[in-house]
Amino acid sequence: MENILIIGAGAAGSVVAKKCAMNRDVFRKIHLASRTLDKCIKVQKECKTEITVSQVDADDAAQVVRLIEEQRPDLVVNMALPYQDLPIMDACLETGVHYLDTANYEPKDEARFSYTWQWAYRDRFREKGIMAVLGCGFDPGVTSIFCAYARNNLFDEIRTIDIVDCNDGSHGKAFATNFNPEINIREVTQRGKYWKRGKWIEIDPLSISSMIDYPEVGPRKSYLIYHEEEESLVRNIDGLEQIRFWMTFSDNYIKHLEVLQNVGMTRINPVVYNGVEIIPLQFLKALLPEPSSLAENYTGKTSIGCIIRGVKGGKPAAYILYNVCDHAETYRELGAQAVSYTTGVPAATGAIMMMKGIWSGKGVFNVEELPPEPFLEEVSKQGLPWHAKRLDGEAYRELAEL
Ligand code: NDP
Repeated sequence: MENILIIGAGAAGSVVAKKCAMNRDVFRKIHLASRTLDKCIKVQKECKTEITVSQVDADDAAQVVRLIEEQRPDLVVNMALPYQDLPIMDACLETGVHYLDTANYEPKDEARFSYTWQWAYRDRFREKGIMAVLGCGFDPGVTSIFCAYARNNLFDEIRTIDIVDCNDGSHGKAFATNFNPEINIREVTQRGKYWKRGKWIEIDPLSISSMIDYPEVGPRKSYLIYHEEEESLVRNIDGLEQIRFWMTFSDNYIKHLEVLQNVGMTRINPVVYNGVEIIPLQFLKALLPEPSSLAENYTGKTSIGCIIRGVKGGKPAAYILYNVCDHAETYRELGAQAVSYTTGVPAATGAIMMMKGIWSGKGVFNVEELPPEPFLEEVSKQGLPWHAKRLDGEAYRELAEL
């Protein structure tokens, strides 16, 4: 295993390509393909070692099959959008090549992301003798791997998980999203939910907030939203009683989002304008800054982790496992902002795990089902050092019962 194909030359995909190009002991041949060839060429020029590039429309599985047959990769890393997950998985099945992604499938005409569609590929991947690794970015990705590490090393039983995601950075734009605007806005404007004692509890969008004290950042207002790793963690972490996901949004972000929603700009059903059908959210995406373009003047840090409570040696225990990443430092290293960096570095690390056979298996896997320790050791070396800090009983009291 030594050849990799990366699909998607956007903010996070370019980080994967550049990181792989810094690990030539693992990746002999690196090929980057995306919808717009110019973007691939730009990344190619910025890579420290030589990579090859081409154009592909990954909505079309037949095109991806042809690309795989030409490039003969051992692994396809999908850094395009969630809509392309299934056609790329179909192409991997047809050609017998391993697969890895960072976001679960979502149909274009319905804002409902779920693993259900990709889990349905389990038997076919198993029968073909290939492996699909789902959700290997930061969240999902490192956060789920923190949970697996905590399960194996810090607790006898895990009771509650709060995934806490703070971007305390400042990009200087009036309104922008840190990853693909269409996917980001679809995620944030849908109804929230969390899982408690075997049941999903639904809430209105952004209707519950709490002050959370983030490592190296401090207390920040955070909103309870639904996030995709909750769906797999409730299955894969035994004995879990509650899981919630919290994310910071500035008052300015919320203000813009509210207005855009109120005027219908976040709709995903078509409207006819001058005889042409347009989808308002797609039009809005065309107006907003591309996430990769935010990198140059971004300052501040991301602080993302998991607050986990449970039992160790018969006594209550609580830990926070986290990483802090600095936008200006990631720009200096790879020309990327921290949100793209914290997504792309784990994907490149997952690819290293698969290439080296440290992560292996037949079928479809969420990252928490795979060995966490070697991944966490490698992801630190690749640029994302992490920490596990024991919390005393009083800490994070503000994240009380809902
Ligand atoms: P970008 O919009 O910057 O990049 C997406 C790239 O995919 C673009 O280059 C785009 O091409 C390309 N693309 C879109 N459609 C196709 C297609 N049909 N065929 C080929 N290429 C296509 O988004 P990000 O880099 O911010 O996000 C990439 C992925 O990472 C998303 O799925 C996102 O949800 C996920 N993500 C995961 C996170 C995690 O922690 N797990 C965090 C952040 C993001 P073009 O340039 O032509 O539009």
